[in-house]
Amino acid sequence: MINNLETRYSYVSDYLFINILNTINGRNNVFTDFLEEDGLMVAWLSLMKEKGLLNSEQVEKINESSIDIKKIQLFREQCRSFFLEPETQSKFLESLASNTEKAPLFFDKEFRPTPSTGGTDGLISLIAYDMLTAHHNGLFPKIKKCKSNTCYALFVDTSGRRKWCSMEVCGNRTKARKHYAKKSSE
Ligand SMILES: [Zn+2]
Repeated sequence: MINNLETRYSYVSDYLFINILNTINGRNNVFTDFLEEDGLMVAWLSLMKEKGLLNSEQVEKINESSIDIKKIQLFREQCRSFFLEPETQSKFLESLASNTEKAPLFFDKEFRPTPSTGGTDGLISLIAYDMLTAHHNGLFPKIKKCKSNTCYALFVDTSGRRKWCSMEVCGNRTKARKHYAKKSSE
């Protein structure tokens, strides 16, 4: 069991799908893929539940079957390249919709989706649904990558002015670097 998964993130998004896309990072110039760590998927699901981005029924259902990390990584890469190079990915939205078909979703009275099967297909189905909802709400053009070269985090830029995934982690660090570069050249 991974403790303090939250501290691996430069920030935790309010969107479920962004949090799975941000399971890679390059903090301190070291590339890390959280998904490759044992127990990460279980820890990630608990963190999402803690943040209110998944409910108990959804987590229980997903945990009913095993998760193939390689498939989640592949899905993550397809989604990331769509946001980083959208012009090359015209079929992406169709493939996203077909991802929800492998584990159809059932909706409760509050319209919260629960996949019909757990494991890999169930998790991908839920994330794909979350992305399609974001797409319908016009969020896709607002998704940006953090301006820091060593950070891979994506975020939703609601104001149109946000540059960093986290002002505390990436914003201040870049500002400090520029400040010292300027000072030493003086
Ligand atoms: Zn960042």
